[in-house]
Amino acid sequence: MAEQEWMSEVRAKVGREYGRVYAWDEVNAPMIRQWCEVMGIDNPLYTDAAHAAASEFGGIVAPPAMLQAWCLEGLHMNNYAPGSTDENPYEVLKMMEAHGYPSVVAVNSDLSFERYLKLGEKLYYTTRLDSVGEEKTTALGTGFFVTLIMSFFSQKPAGDEKVGQLLFRVFKFRPANVPKPAEKGAAPAVPKYKRPQPGVSDDTRFFWEGVQAGRLLIQRCTCCGTLRHPPAPVCIDCHSFDWDTVEASGKGEIHSFVVMHYPEVPPFEHPNPIGLIDLDEGVRLVAGLVGVKRDEIGIGQRVQVEFQSFDDGELTLPMFRPVAG
Ligand code: ZN
Repeated sequence: MAEQEWMSEVRAKVGREYGRVYAWDEVNAPMIRQWCEVMGIDNPLYTDAAHAAASEFGGIVAPPAMLQAWCLEGLHMNNYAPGSTDENPYEVLKMMEAHGYPSVVAVNSDLSFERYLKLGEKLYYTTRLDSVGEEKTTALGTGFFVTLIMSFFSQKPAGDEKVGQLLFRVFKFRPANVPKPAEKGAAPAVPKYKRPQPGVSDDTRFFWEGVQAGRLLIQRCTCCGTLRHPPAPVCIDCHSFDWDTVEASGKGEIHSFVVMHYPEVPPFEHPNPIGLIDLDEGVRLVAGLVGVKRDEIGIGQRVQVEFQSFDDGELTLPMFRPVAG
């Protein structure tokens, strides 16, 4: 089948090298120590100056797997170190999105190294759009495998030295259940994306039927009275298979939360705040947060359930809205 015309614009970008992204900091001992602590790595080459000095490296070196960490933007999006490019190496993904391939899944990430990095080295990377495959259909849907290669360099007076690279491959696709947009000629149809349906089993059906009826039901062991969520066939306390349900008040507080910024997958709004809610009855559940801005969400915030209908009534979900404490 002949490829759609807009894809020639995508293919013209294959091989393009996108500009430098600089590290905020040179390779340094505090970042290495904290990274090792988080990852649970206790190799003294990375953290013990005396041990490292007596080694073949003559001093502390950075764990190779840290390579990408040196040039990351930091906590806030697009906060790159001065001098970094503002080119977007993912621009072809945006083009695919505009033509009806909204979803993305990472499929490969291969990190390779030339050598160990020493304290004081200053890095940057460039990104090459390595390849865009032919259109393929997988179980997820139809789309393109896109491969990017980030090459990392250490800045040297005598010429920058390549120290490693990261191959990153994604599948950019139209989910299997979404109709294809209109062919060229007609105005491009904006496909209406639906929310994913929950997986309903014999164990969870009561919960979703309750939600559909505007009730938040929690499973209760009829043998010992323990409440449990998510639903399960057996009581973790007394191992009884007998259960009924109680209706929760819908009141609780935010135990933790995340705010999803990227990728922007329709039909979700972005940023998309999601909470882990401690219900007053003593169980936790994950649900969307509504009526709150990103910087107003707080651990311990009191919330109240409300039931929202999506996709013309096909799906009802419990969402939680902050209320006065
Ligand atoms: Zn029990």
